[in-house]
Amino acid sequence: MGPQRAALLQKELHLFTFGDLIQYYPFRHEDRTKFYTVKEVAQALDEISTGIQLKGTITGFQAIGAGYKKRLRATFKDETGSIELVWFQRINWVLDKVKTNTPCIIFGKPNLFGNKISIAHPEIEAITTANENRGYLHPVYAVTEKLKARHLDSKFISKLMTMLLPLAQNHIRETLPVALLTQHNLADKRTALQNIHLPQSETLLNQARYRLKFEELFYIQLRLIKMKLVRQDKYKGMAFADTAILTRFYKEHLPFDLTEAQKRVIREIYTDMKSGKQMNRLLQGDVGSGKTIVAFICMLLAVGSGAQATLMAPTEILAQQHYANLKKYADKMDIPIALLTGSIKKSQRRPIHEALEDGTLKILVGTHALLEDGVKFKQLGLAIIDEQHRFGVAQRSKLWQKNATVFPHVLVMTATPIPRTLAMTLYGDLEISVIDELPKGRKPIKTTHRYDSHRLQVNGFIQSQLKEGRQVYIVYPLIDESEKLDLKHLMDGYESISRAFPNVPVSIVHGQMKPEAKDYEMARFVKGETKIMVATTVIEVGVDVPNASVMIIESAERFGLSQLHQLRGRVGRGAEQSYCILMTGDKLSADSRVRIDTMVKTNNGFEISETDLKLRGPGDLMGTQQSGALDLLIADLGKDGEILKSARQAAIEILNADPALAKPENMAVRQQVDSLKQSVVNWSRIS
Ligand code: ADP
Ligand code: MG
Repeated sequence: MGPQRAALLQKELHLFTFGDLIQYYPFRHEDRTKFYTVKEVAQALDEISTGIQLKGTITGFQAIGAGYKKRLRATFKDETGSIELVWFQRINWVLDKVKTNTPCIIFGKPNLFGNKISIAHPEIEAITTANENRGYLHPVYAVTEKLKARHLDSKFISKLMTMLLPLAQNHIRETLPVALLTQHNLADKRTALQNIHLPQSETLLNQARYRLKFEELFYIQLRLIKMKLVRQDKYKGMAFADTAILTRFYKEHLPFDLTEAQKRVIREIYTDMKSGKQMNRLLQGDVGSGKTIVAFICMLLAVGSGAQATLMAPTEILAQQHYANLKKYADKMDIPIALLTGSIKKSQRRPIHEALEDGTLKILVGTHALLEDGVKFKQLGLAIIDEQHRFGVAQRSKLWQKNATVFPHVLVMTATPIPRTLAMTLYGDLEISVIDELPKGRKPIKTTHRYDSHRLQVNGFIQSQLKEGRQVYIVYPLIDESEKLDLKHLMDGYESISRAFPNVPVSIVHGQMKPEAKDYEMARFVKGETKIMVATTVIEVGVDVPNASVMIIESAERFGLSQLHQLRGRVGRGAEQSYCILMTGDKLSADSRVRIDTMVKTNNGFEISETDLKLRGPGDLMGTQQSGALDLLIADLGKDGEILKSARQAAIEILNADPALAKPENMAVRQQVDSLKQSVVNWSRIS
C-alpha cells in the first residue's frame, strides 16, 4: 500500500509492522458457508440477525426521488422469488460497476419494508467458479470512520491478510513450549494465526481463538507471578512475631466480636508479617465489612515489635475519617497517632516530622502529603494504602522507599469488590485476602426503583425519614461531555429540594466547587448541621455519616453498576434501617434495566461486580486509569475466566520448575518474554 494509506493505518489503528497487522484480530466472522434462497429468507426473516448471502441476478435499476431523498432501487431474483436492493449513497458508482442480468452473489442483512423484503447497500460479486462453491467464514475487522472514508475498510484489511499470511508463515515463531501445547490441546501458532483471520470452519476458528487467548493470558500471568517470586526471593521483610500487644487489645478493648472473615484475613496477614518476607497483599472487602479494625490490628502487630505504621488515603476527608476511627482504638492502647494532610500547617508539621524520625510517633495517617521527602520514619514496618485505584503505582512504590533498610510490609485495601479474573490480572502479583461477610445484625439496605413520575411520593418518604432525625443523600450524575447540562440538572434539583423542604438545611457539593468549599459543606453534613446533601458522585468514596439513612440516586440509569453500589454503600452504616432509591426516566435500555434490577435484587458487591464485568467489560469497570493494563488483544476477562485460570496455573507450574526460564524446553517462553519486554504493548503498562 502507498505511504499515505500506511500513515493512516498507523495513525488510526497503531499498526506499524506486519507483526502488528497480523495481530489485528477480527472481532467477528460472517458466515459465508451457506447460500440462502429468496424463499428461505422470506420464511426465516425473523431469525436472521446478521448478513447472509444469496445467488441470483439483478434484473434492473430504478432511481427514485431527488436531492438528499434520492435512492436507487434494484430487483434481485433467483428461482424461488425476488427481493429489493436499495442504495442511498454512491448511486452513480453502483450504476457504473454493477452489471444487470449477470449471475452474482449478494451479501447483506435483509429487512422488511412495508411488505417487501429488501437489503440496503449489499455487497455484490460476480459469480466465478472459485467463489460459487466456496464455503468460508469472512473476517470482520474494526475500522474507524476516517479509514472507511479512504476505502480502508474491513474488506480491505481482510485482503491484506490474504496477501500477508502466506508470506508470513515462515517467520512465525512458536511462542509456547511444546509440552504446553500438548497438555492443553492448543493449536500451534502458525495455524492459530491463519485461522483467526481466515478459518475454514467454525471449529478451526474456535481453536485459534482459544490458543491466542491462552497465550495472551499466559504471558500476563507469567510476568505477574515472576514479579511476585522475585520479590519474595529478594526482599526481606521485618518479622513481627510479638503478639503481647494484640492479646491485650483483644482482651481489654475489642469493641465487638470479629466476624469469621475478619479473623481469617487477620490470620493471613499475620502469617505474612511474621514470615520474614515482605508482604504485598490486597485486602478486598465490601463497604461496611469492617476493614478499619483489621487495619488497626495489623498496625498493632508492627507497633508491638517496635516499628511504625502508616495509612494513606486518597482524599483529605477520608484521611480525617480514618484518623478519627483509628485514634479511638490507638488512644485506648496509648499508642501515639497523628494526621498529616496537605492542609496541616507548617508549624504543626514540624513536631510530627520530629516524632516520626525519633520513633516516638507510632502511627501516621494521611493523604499523599505523607509521601513528601520531609516525612521520614525511624522504622516504617507497615504501609497501608486505602482505595488503591486512586493512587498511581509510582506513589505506591514511593511509600515503599520510606524505609531505607527494609521495605515495609504493604497492605492495599479496596472497597471495590473485584471479580476474580480481574483481581488476578490487576493484582496478580499480590496475595489476595477477602472479607466476604458483613458484621452480624447489620440490616440490609432496602433498595427500590422509582420512576421520575413518582417524585412526590419519594419526597413524602424523605419527609418521614427527616422527621425521624435521619439525613438524606441525593446524588446526580456528572459525566464530562455533558457537564454543563448535568450541572444544570443538579442545580435545578437543589432548588426544587429547597422548595419542597423549605425549613430543612440543605448542602450542595459538586466538582466545580473549590476544594475548601467542598470540604466545608461536607463537614457541615457530617456534623449533622445540614440534613440533605445534594451532590454529584464526589461523595462516592468512603465518606461515613452513620446517621444518613437514605440514598437517592437521580438518573440512576446513567450510572455504572459498581458506581451505584459504591454510592449505596454510603448509607446503612448506622443501626437504623437504610434505604436506597433509584430514580429513572420511563424508558430504560436493556442494559440499564439489568443494572437497576441487579441493584434491587442484591447487596452483594461481588455478585454486582461480576454482572458489571459481563455488561461493560473490564476497561470501563476499573476506570480509565487502569484500563491500559486491560487492553487485551483478544482475551476478554469478562468471558474468559476459565482460560485465565488454566493459563495462570500453567505459568505457575513453569516458573516453579524453572524460575529463571533457563531450561531448553522453555526457550520459547524466554524468547517471548524478552521480545515482549521490548515492545510497549501490555507489559510496561501492567507494572
Ligand atoms: P469498611 O470496610 O467499609 O471500611 P468499617 O471498617 O468502616 O468498614 O466498618 C463499618 C462499621 O462496622 C464500623 O462502624 C465498624 O465499627 C463496624 N464493625 C466492623 N467490624 C464489626 C464487627 N465484627 N461487628 C460489629 N461491628 C463491626
Ligand atoms: Mg472504610
